[in-house]
Amino acid sequence: MRNSKRFITPKFQEVEIVHREDVTADLMKLWVEKPDGFQFKPGQYCTIGLNGVERAYSIVSAPHEENLELFVELVHPPDGVFTPMIWDTVVGDKVTCRFKPKGIFILNNQLTNHFLIATVTGIVPYISMIRDYIHKNEDKNFKFFIAHGASYIDEFVYDLELEGYAKKYPDLVQYFPTISRPNESKNVSWIGLKGRVNDFTQSMINDLNLTNQDTVIYVCGHPGMIENVKEKLNPQGFKVVEERFWK
Ligand SMILES: Cc1cc2nc3c(=O)[nH]c(=O)nc-3n(C[C@H](O)[C@H](O)[C@H](O)COP(=O)(O)OP(=O)(O)OC[C@H]3O[C@@H](n4cnc5c(N)ncnc54)[C@H](O)[C@@H]3O)c2cc1C
Repeated sequence: MRNSKRFITPKFQEVEIVHREDVTADLMKLWVEKPDGFQFKPGQYCTIGLNGVERAYSIVSAPHEENLELFVELVHPPDGVFTPMIWDTVVGDKVTCRFKPKGIFILNNQLTNHFLIATVTGIVPYISMIRDYIHKNEDKNFKFFIAHGASYIDEFVYDLELEGYAKKYPDLVQYFPTISRPNESKNVSWIGLKGRVNDFTQSMINDLNLTNQDTVIYVCGHPGMIENVKEKLNPQGFKVVEERFWK
């Protein structure tokens, strides 16, 4: 067990980057140590700092996992401040992590159907929720319907994991990835759904027989997608909960 953590302030602790995977030029998975005593619920986020700048990151990993897995999109300068700095880090470098996880974007245990809608990195909290549910071998009759939108196929990143769950637990997980730019050369091999994820939500609700009595809608990712889904589904009486990564 490594012991490279160093206490800094009562609010946060310096932790080590233990693993990094660059998935595309603008997307990476990063694993950092947990601060001492760090406990979170699937769907919550942590606060990571570097050179005095802190940002919120939803946690990909489930609570039982040793490290915190993050999935980060690079926001190029001059807009992005933190992400260009974290892109320059390597395994063994240190970042800070606040002791307290935050957020109320967690599973609603009162209803059984969970329709999880995301664009690109918005998939993060759902991975944690599903990993945790499977790890605990929960028997709540939950069903997870995941609709995931991206411009390019290499932005899905957790597709193999989700397809694996859908195959192994077909009564628990159904995964619907869709590409919004099917005609671009990077997407020529794509044979799945085409169009923006928010344009499919209504037909999926109809096809899957989801009702406002048995289904919670979760939206995470692009603010335009979130607004559009809420505009469509709130008037139908659906409970729509959201996590905004940016405004
Ligand atoms: C609760 C919460 C959870 C979050 N979880 C994640 C996560 O899991 N993964 C992740 O990559 N980011 C996540 N974010 C966003 C993250 O906190 C940073 O804002 C982001 O990484 C950009 O940091 P930055 O300092 O480079 O740019 P910032 O100074 O934070 O943002 C600059 C501008 O870039 C735009 N922007 C920010 N993020 C994006 C984006 N992903 N795509 C396009 N434009 C963007 C916004 O318009 C913003 O005004 C989360 C934010 C919140 C509030």
